[in-house]
Amino acid sequence: MQQITNGGWDQRITIFRADEAEAGEQVDAFAIVTHKYVVFVDTLATPALARQMVEAMRPYLADRQPLVINTHADYDHCWGNAVFATDGELPAPIYGHAYAAKRLTSDEDKHYLSDQQQKDPRFAEVRLVPPTNTIDKQTAIDCGDLQLALIPTPGHCPDHIAIWIPNIRHLFTGDAAESPFPYVANAATLPSLIHSLEVLAGLNAAIALPCHGETTDPQLLTCNLNYFEAVKTSCLQSIENGSLPDDWINAKNIADIVGMSYEEALAISQADPEQTPSMYRDFHETAIKATITLLLRSQNAP
Ligand SMILES: [Zn+2]
Repeated sequence: MQQITNGGWDQRITIFRADEAEAGEQVDAFAIVTHKYVVFVDTLATPALARQMVEAMRPYLADRQPLVINTHADYDHCWGNAVFATDGELPAPIYGHAYAAKRLTSDEDKHYLSDQQQKDPRFAEVRLVPPTNTIDKQTAIDCGDLQLALIPTPGHCPDHIAIWIPNIRHLFTGDAAESPFPYVANAATLPSLIHSLEVLAGLNAAIALPCHGETTDPQLLTCNLNYFEAVKTSCLQSIENGSLPDDWINAKNIADIVGMSYEEALAISQADPEQTPSMYRDFHETAIKATITLLLRSQNAP
């Protein structure tokens, strides 16, 4: 794990980057040193990674309480929670959406964890620890010098929250915004994902800190919105000019069919193709199919 050298964001914030090259995943978590608390934004994929963050922040914990916020319950953001459990090394209140607590106590997540534990020894130590302080609407945390606003921003997943610090105009987007573009699972979640992006863009942040994508540029929010708008325009055109085959849902080259290549998607997103993991090619195809589904549904609506 890497601690990222400050690139112009508020000095109170440390970025931790877990880079599991073999697993092809990179995710950032954050620590914010405030008057009252050391706030950990996410706990990464394992207790071992979370422990490294705690050790790095040890000097600041001497006279401050720890406090944890889970942006959402995807494994790479909260499987380090056990470190902060009541019986963990550094017990702390864990804030998260009520639905994140539901996910982390569900049979589905339990099965998923035991599957992953069988496949990958680095998950051996993971325990599913749900948030202790659950929210279901915008919630403020008074840290003394900084006020944190936890903002429900569903779309990427239903339990997603972003964190906004108005007095320094810093925004932790979680996975609601991401470079090159966020993951949209299906048509049902696309409208709320776009709405959440609009809400976050409306905050007019000076610094945006997503969990994936190594950027701090607040233009990220506009880029993400432009991307989804461009996907919509391309999909609408191919629906209207009849170029969409009947079995488009199974098409392997849907990006070519609607005329919005992956390369174009990266250009609109101002992302460097060399630096972008190839999984975003699948994200792009999924976003196109979700958009077509939504457009056809609205056209067929009475
Ligand atoms: Zn993620």
